[in-house]
Amino acid sequence: MQPAADMRQVAVLGATGSIGTSALDVIARHGARMRASVLAAGCNVDALLDLCARHRPDHAVIADAAGYARLRDGLRDAGLATRAHAGGQALEALAAGPECDTVVAAIVGAAGLGSTLAAARAGKRLLLANKESLVLAGELLIAAARRSGATIVPIDSEHSAVFQCLRSCEPAGVRRIVLTASGGPFRGWSRDRLAAVTPAQAVAHPKWSMGPKISVDSATLMNKGLEVIEAHHLFGLPAERIGVLVHPQSLVHALVEYVDGSTLAQLGLPDMRTALAVGLGWPERIDSGVAGLDLLAQGRLEFEAPDMEAFPCLRLAGAALSAGGTAPAVLNAANEEAVSAFLQGRIGFLDIPALVEDALAALPAAPAGDLQVLLAADTDARRFTRQRISPPMPPAGTPAA
Ligand code: NAD
Ligand code: MG
Repeated sequence: MQPAADMRQVAVLGATGSIGTSALDVIARHGARMRASVLAAGCNVDALLDLCARHRPDHAVIADAAGYARLRDGLRDAGLATRAHAGGQALEALAAGPECDTVVAAIVGAAGLGSTLAAARAGKRLLLANKESLVLAGELLIAAARRSGATIVPIDSEHSAVFQCLRSCEPAGVRRIVLTASGGPFRGWSRDRLAAVTPAQAVAHPKWSMGPKISVDSATLMNKGLEVIEAHHLFGLPAERIGVLVHPQSLVHALVEYVDGSTLAQLGLPDMRTALAVGLGWPERIDSGVAGLDLLAQGRLEFEAPDMEAFPCLRLAGAALSAGGTAPAVLNAANEEAVSAFLQGRIGFLDIPALVEDALAALPAAPAGDLQVLLAADTDARRFTRQRISPPMPPAGTPAA
């Protein structure tokens, strides 16, 4: 059966993840007006095959080429017409090609940059969850979208909130915006107590159910730091006009204060399907499966200042944004490496900000004229940070040096 001409064809990149799964949930609610035409994942072939059986895309991409044969054979054995692809180039070609008009950029980390940029250059509607690509190469990404006419709809809940208040990414008449932060699982903890935090504690977010990397970022408050940089690029505002407020209930997602003293806020339950439905339906409002907000049942809304002492990552991100050039790329890469080592139990929780601070000091900001310079800064920061993290135990049987 040929899809209707006005059927939205959606590529979900990072389909097996938390955002990808939520996006597919919303898409499946609107079978008459949109479908998932491309699904892409990192290395989990079985999870991708399950999604293909359920959503019947035209194309499935596994980034890790080692999974290609199993993906191809699995699709064939399931009797699916979905074509198998592997690797970053295939991912970028599908994100940019006629196979989709809308791209949900939900790969985690700098690994999402290539496909996000490809979609922006190709003029797609870009539902942007992959905040690391904006932190790493925000100017280039926004410029590419401007040139091609791509519409970026932010998916990060705070940025979706600002987008909904503004009804665009244009901050006309705006004095400042305020992003809210839940404060993460360790809100109110001292540095001493934070030293002994385990990965299991750090990924147990009190309000949001998310992938492991962003959960740790939320626990260190680096997530909010990355989001300030993200907001700077999306809405064209300088750092001093982007505030952060801790709001433990996670019901108010952001506030937009206008020059006339009026403040608009966006509220809703902490469920990413709302932001995804905004992006998929925009400018129309479509069902997301998320219930409305019962403020009487929720009780109080509280706000407090972030604790910059216990959570230095927010300050480090601010410093990287002020330094500009390659500094945000260094911040992001060092953080990705440190979070990965923390999740593997190789470093402590407080080593994360320490490693990021060291990388920023060792690799001073340089002008970032083009993508190559930024990617080189990313590589250098990863190498630097990996070297500072003690090497893993040698395999058994390795002779002692
Ligand atoms: P996740 O870990 O749950 O999922 C990540 C997805 O990326 C998986 O499908 C994985 O297979 C894929 N992936 C990983 N490496 C890849 C690679 N090299 N190539 C291709 N695919 C790869 O993460 P998540 O929580 O869904 O977050 C995804 C992005 O959305 C992140 O940038 C995060 O900051 C952002 N975000 C997430 C939430 C949330 O609620 N989860 C909220 C706001 C923003
Ligand atoms: Mg967010």
